[in-house]
Amino acid sequence: MSTSTSPPEPTAETTPAFRLERQGLDLRFRAVRLAAREWITPEYVRVRLEGDDLRGFTSLGSDDHIRVFFPAGPTESVEELRAAPSREYTPLAWDADAGWLDLEFAIHGASDVHSADGVGAVWAASAEIGAFAGVGGPRGSMVVTGRPDAWLLAGDETAVPAMRRFAQLMDAEATGRILVEVPDAARELPIDAPAGVVVEQVHRGDAPAGSALAARIDALTADDRPAGDVFGFIAAEQAIVKPGRALLLDRWGLASDQIVVKGYWKRGEAEYHAPH
Ligand SMILES: Cc1cc2nc3c(=O)[nH]c(=O)nc-3n(C[C@H](O)[C@H](O)[C@H](O)COP(=O)(O)OP(=O)(O)OC[C@H]3O[C@@H](n4cnc5c(N)ncnc54)[C@H](O)[C@@H]3O)c2cc1C
Repeated sequence: MSTSTSPPEPTAETTPAFRLERQGLDLRFRAVRLAAREWITPEYVRVRLEGDDLRGFTSLGSDDHIRVFFPAGPTESVEELRAAPSREYTPLAWDADAGWLDLEFAIHGASDVHSADGVGAVWAASAEIGAFAGVGGPRGSMVVTGRPDAWLLAGDETAVPAMRRFAQLMDAEATGRILVEVPDAARELPIDAPAGVVVEQVHRGDAPAGSALAARIDALTADDRPAGDVFGFIAAEQAIVKPGRALLLDRWGLASDQIVVKGYWKRGEAEYHAPH
């Protein structure tokens, strides 16, 4: 037994390669109109919103969300707009001078999009061009500052806009892995990423959303952990949270303040509010 009373040697302070920083924006509500719709797959659509209110729009974080309001017609006041049904979406691209904003919607519930369930999915699939909508936010952002040594992004269709934005942050030498869960080859959603980042489409077939992604995540072992400070982002149906945290925190030992693991929707629950 040691009888030494000297204090332990100080451990060297290491600076992480990157940090996730919280940043805030003033909450604004904007009246917009549906300007265009482009089908990317039979169940995934990109829409363009436009309006003078979108001038000055900004979104600081890749996994930011806005609340999109779906009123039956034009609204006279912010209160009226806020009373309309609303759901959460990720700002994909925008032009703050021209006043437009692109979003991407997973159209769920049916192979015939006109019987898709969910107010957001039905609106994105079938609202008339020119239809009114509202946009609130983004309010709080999580911004990656610095350069992760490697990336692990994983999600279903609802997280593709966020993963597309994270991929835009990567430089040409970036390394990592992106897992995208989709039903089948006809519905794959490619994500542009540097050569060192492997993009893998995970097919769920007829299995419940999230199950194939969870199995793929469960199959990643400690040996698959890239070296260094890894940024991990995992978002899909709420059941992904447990396997996502088991991988990033337990098997890979990442710091909880260097990862984001979120349920973006919950099976059987309309208007799910993810904890922020
Ligand atoms: C931070 C954040 C960012 C998000 N970004 C996006 C985005 O950019 N694009 C996007 O499409 N979604 C995104 N989502 C998810 C979206 O908010 C939910 O899927 C929302 O429930 C869709 O609303 P809805 O009106 O279509 O369906 P709801 O009326 O909310 O739900 C109706 C039924 O459909 C089910 N359901 C909801 N979503 C799906 C789905 N994707 N697949 C199968 N069944 C579903 C529900 O469980 C419920 O039973 C995001 C969520 C969060 C929390």
